[in-house]
Amino acid sequence: MKKLAAGNWKMNGTAASLAEVQALLAAHPAPKCEMLLCPPATLLAQMAWAAKGSVLAVGGQDCHAKASGAHTGDISAAMLKDAGAAYVILGHSERRADHGETDAQVRAKAEAALAAGLVAVVCVGETEAQRDAGTTLDVIDSQLAGSVPEATAATLVVAYEPVWAIGTGRTPTLAEIAEVHAFLRARLTDRFGADAAGVRLLYGGSVKPSNAAEIFGLPNVDGALVGGASLKAADFGAIVAAL
Ligand code: PEP
Repeated sequence: MKKLAAGNWKMNGTAASLAEVQALLAAHPAPKCEMLLCPPATLLAQMAWAAKGSVLAVGGQDCHAKASGAHTGDISAAMLKDAGAAYVILGHSERRADHGETDAQVRAKAEAALAAGLVAVVCVGETEAQRDAGTTLDVIDSQLAGSVPEATAATLVVAYEPVWAIGTGRTPTLAEIAEVHAFLRARLTDRFGADAAGVRLLYGGSVKPSNAAEIFGLPNVDGALVGGASLKAADFGAIVAAL
């Protein structure tokens, strides 16, 4: 399985930021892993154009569950695909918190993504209070069961992102990451059988050049979902090189 270095630009970036894409591709024209950047929707088509013919895939950060219609401000999976996306992040904790997205809504969006031919990157992760309460695996279990659609290894990526590690500079211990990733693999195997071995499991939450190699060395870690450190080609490139 090819590992995946995925970057989530969140609500950051303007056309000038595409210089980072050129710099990334110039420095890493043929990385061992697959590279994915998910810019804001306003940059998606331009980034896809800049990445055309390269090893960089482009993705959305969310999509609507419906294919089209009266949903002002929303974007469908087919529109993302049409703009050049191959992937879409779904159920990021910021969407769950800012927009109240439920597991059922995330699953419906993921089903729409698959129907449009996109790979769904479904995010799960516990809050700090849930980790402190010892309920991390229960939370992950129910998010996984509720958010992940029927899919194949080629169409599904699952990202483990502890909410308290996102943008904070804090990360779980390596043992904690390994425990959750082993749990994810086991649960996906219960559901999808042998195919689950090919589902890429990403760790996300304050991944940076200095901690990437040790996290990527863990079993069942097949890549990373990177926020802040994906905005600069030098940082994201160093993470790509660690995979
Ligand atoms: C994220 O937004 O998915 C993320 C992991 O952010 P950061 O790398 O900045 O913690």
